[in-house]
Amino acid sequence: MTQEIVNQNRDKRDGKGRVIALSRRVYRIENTDVFYVESESNDDMYYYVMFNTDKKFEWCSCKDFEKNRYQIKCKHLAGVEYAIRWATVTDTDKLPLGVKKDNSTTWRDDLYDF
Ligand SMILES: [Zn+2]
Repeated sequence: MTQEIVNQNRDKRDGKGRVIALSRRVYRIENTDVFYVESESNDDMYYYVMFNTDKKFEWCSCKDFEKNRYQIKCKHLAGVEYAIRWATVTDTDKLPLGVKKDNSTTWRDDLYDF
C-alpha cells in the first residue's frame, strides 16, 4: 500500500467520523472513558469504544480497527473525537433499552485498566 492510499483512507475515516458525530448517536457512560457509537448501517447496533486522549488510549470493537492491528483510528474513534469536540456526546448512566452491542471482536476487561 502506498503512502498516498494510506493517507486517503485516513481522510475517509476522518470524514466518516465527522458524519457520525453529527448524524449518529454517541453515548458516553458517565464519568468513564467508555462510549457507544451508533452504527452507520444499523440503527440498533452500537460499537463499543474506549477513548482517552490524556492516557492515549483508543479502542473500538469494530472489524476495521482490529484489521489494522489497533493502530489506525477507525471511523468510530474519529466520530467520538469529533463528538467530544462538538459536544454532541450524550452522557448516560446506562444504555437505552434495546441497544445491541457489536460482538464481532472479543473484548476482555483486562485489556484496559480503569
Ligand atoms: Zn470502529
